[in-house]
Amino acid sequence: MGPGDGTMSGTMSGMTTPNLLEVTGLRKHYPIRGGFFGRVTGQVRAVDGVDLTLAAGRTLGLVGESGSGKTTLGRCVLRLIEPTAGSVSFEGQDVLKFNARALRAARRQMQIVFQDPYSSLNPRMTVGSIVGEPFAIHRLARGQQRKDQVAELLGRVGIEPAAMKKYPHEFSGGQRQRIGIARALALKPKMIVADEPVSALDVSIQAQILNLLVDLQKQFQMAYLFIAHDLRIVEHISDTVAVMYLGRIVEYATTAALFSGPVHPYTRALMDAIPVIDPATRRTRVIVPGDIPSPAAPPPGCRFHPRCPVAVDMCRTIEPPLIDIGGGHLAACHLATPGASPPYPEFPRNSAPV
Ligand code: SF4
Repeated sequence: MGPGDGTMSGTMSGMTTPNLLEVTGLRKHYPIRGGFFGRVTGQVRAVDGVDLTLAAGRTLGLVGESGSGKTTLGRCVLRLIEPTAGSVSFEGQDVLKFNARALRAARRQMQIVFQDPYSSLNPRMTVGSIVGEPFAIHRLARGQQRKDQVAELLGRVGIEPAAMKKYPHEFSGGQRQRIGIARALALKPKMIVADEPVSALDVSIQAQILNLLVDLQKQFQMAYLFIAHDLRIVEHISDTVAVMYLGRIVEYATTAALFSGPVHPYTRALMDAIPVIDPATRRTRVIVPGDIPSPAAPPPGCRFHPRCPVAVDMCRTIEPPLIDIGGGHLAACHLATPGASPPYPEFPRNSAPV
């Protein structure tokens, strides 16, 4: 599996820190059944051949529209969903080969923060039980020792330790997300998959939670696989960014390189969708018509071609490989060639500034 297969490999080759996570050729296909006998009539290709790497203590932002497969990818990495094919190596060990016991042990190092702080906390458990549950599952601390550790964790995320006796409904959305983060931190993991951790929160609270995650990363040296649909949020927290479209990575770069020079038309469209606050820098928006196609029937050739404003004939039949266009910046687009400057014709733009 490599760039020729439209996936990402050799990423972060310039990084000095060793890779904590290496995902190779990851696929998750869901069978579609139909007819009287429930035969398999097709496949939903939620994740369709993804390579990525994540170094210890770093943050990889994974961004794309709803339906791009990013959440499925994050869950496959943790084996909350069983992948169809590929490998997931964590600290050099193949997670997909772990038996139940080894997987439980590995989960101490790989935690998740969910998107929805309203449904991810058990409403019948006290905050103390929720945050202390990982200690109980892994039989690590009990009694007063567990209470002390829960109090310390709550303090680190800005919740009064006295809140231990309360229930989730007694807290705001932001406070609940802090409790979810405290729970994920309990076992001092080396990696957290943060699945849209701020998208259910008010904008005013989002920055607080992002800053908390940044502070905690500095304290605990954790790596984040940070999933989001909003590039603004990804820019704030990530060292590198992978853009996902219809089950595949279409662009990958350091955050600075991606935001200063996005090359894939999809990435450029996502960036143009970011609201501009300053009226002096108003711009026109790239026209990207339509919705993301169904992963059960991805378009032939480049998967983005039905929506791409600069598609050429070959885009309809030949799938572009993910290639290094310079300095570890990868893109899967026939118009993005190494050293080309500028790599694209100007996009058609609508007349109304945004
Ligand atoms: Fe657009 Fe063609 Fe590039 Fe795909 S390969 S993003 S259709 S220009």
